[in-house]
Amino acid sequence: MSESASSPNPVVVIGAGIAGLSAAVSAAEQGAPVVLVDRAGPLEAGGNTRWTSAYFRLDDVYEPGESFVDEVVGFSGGRTPAWYFEELVERLPETMEWIQGHGARFRRLPTYFINSNRPRLQPHGGGEALLSALRPVAEKLGVEFRYHCTAQRLMTEDGRVTGVEVSGPEGEQVLRARAVIIASGGFEGDQAALGEALPGDVTNLIPIAPGVTFNKGEGIRMALEIGARRGGQWDSFHAEPVDPRAENPEALVMVFPYGILVNKHGERFIDEGRGTVDETYESTARAVWAQPGGVAYFITDRKFERVADRERGLLTGRKPVSADTIEELAAALELPADRLAETVGAYNKSVADGEFDWRRPDGKGTEGIEPPKSNWALTVDEAPLLAYPVACAIVFTFGGLETDAGARVVDEDGAAIPGLYAAGECTGIYHDKYPGGTSVLRGMVFGRVAGQAAATA
Ligand SMILES: Cc1cc2nc3c(=O)[nH]c(=O)nc-3n(C[C@H](O)[C@H](O)[C@H](O)COP(=O)(O)OP(=O)(O)OC[C@H]3O[C@@H](n4cnc5c(N)ncnc54)[C@H](O)[C@@H]3O)c2cc1C
Repeated sequence: MSESASSPNPVVVIGAGIAGLSAAVSAAEQGAPVVLVDRAGPLEAGGNTRWTSAYFRLDDVYEPGESFVDEVVGFSGGRTPAWYFEELVERLPETMEWIQGHGARFRRLPTYFINSNRPRLQPHGGGEALLSALRPVAEKLGVEFRYHCTAQRLMTEDGRVTGVEVSGPEGEQVLRARAVIIASGGFEGDQAALGEALPGDVTNLIPIAPGVTFNKGEGIRMALEIGARRGGQWDSFHAEPVDPRAENPEALVMVFPYGILVNKHGERFIDEGRGTVDETYESTARAVWAQPGGVAYFITDRKFERVADRERGLLTGRKPVSADTIEELAAALELPADRLAETVGAYNKSVADGEFDWRRPDGKGTEGIEPPKSNWALTVDEAPLLAYPVACAIVFTFGGLETDAGARVVDEDGAAIPGLYAAGECTGIYHDKYPGGTSVLRGMVFGRVAGQAAATA
């Protein structure tokens, strides 16, 4: 295997998403030579970051909000370590100052969660804008980009990471390094690994965007091979409900509380209105995945027009299936007509009186039906009847590497592995429910921490 390094003793960064570019720029700013490898070509590199709107769970640019740490830790039932997000909050002002110094600009925007009134912060131009801000800085600082270059294995000497083996058009090569920073995303792009880790039919999961397919988990695996400790919930992932017909990425259907969800048998299977969309979209997507064929149908009617902001919750590029009667709708969706008519009839009978208010949990629910619907229960009986197919999209996996506050990868005893750092999706911290708006932010904060530390390793 040939040795290949145009700069002596560089920091090698694996992955050119937000975590990798933040790391590369920060290490180069400290004066270290940096080589950044990415399996994709220059137009495709950037993984999930290229495709995200990159909402930040922040009240304002330097303001995480009072209950930020409690809230995000609460999403995991207490299993996500609080120190991780405390460190993030501590590092937030300097990191936001830094990224703005490189040209990124932020604004507060309402999201596709139309019945939660908390706006989130977003960089103008989303994740791609963050990459576009950092890439030229990296180039100017002399970071050497190697595209079509896939990291495969770590090299060690006396327990210290000394380089990485990569494969690319020139075959296999060794990159010697003073430190290696893994920033190569999760394993959401590897069906076999997903099949081993997740409890369900992974062939029914839809990649949320093309970036998913580049993240096949080598970065995580190579660290585990040398004794790194696992973090995060390995049998779970960030899920979103999408329209499987759509060709556009992130074809979200975030309006499911304003109608009913039925499976292929024409049966309801979940309380569609048990909370705001923000609180329930991920568990709804997972419940859809558990249905036969991993698909469900959101069915509503003309009264959907009362939901003034409905278009904001519908990112699918496809129109709804429309019909005048339940029989016609069943035929169009290829559902059993009798069963669907029974389901809709029973649901309509169960709808209790009350004031409908799409903006907030309105308590207008059902009575005497299983599963119940706790809010936003209106009958489904006014033509045109409308339906969107819904499937479960995978955004990223929760399982990854454990790191310390200095972004150092730790071993089974909790000791830092010398010369090895990690940031972004490849570090495992999430459990149960993803606290939206934290993934890009943490990739940037801890990518920068890793880059600064690795430069002086
Ligand atoms: C449509 C969509 C919407 C999202 N919305 C939000 C949101 O609003 N807010 C939020 O915080 N998060 C959101 N996310 C999640 C977030 O975008 C990602 O989790 C985050 O950007 C991941 O950053 P990363 O740097 O860890 O990985 P990535 O950005 O995925 O980058 C990983 C890079 O590593 C490269 N790579 C992988 N394996 C190797 C290898 N073996 N060798 C070399 N290179 C390799 C890949 O090619 C890629 O360039 C969204 C994601 C998507 C796709």
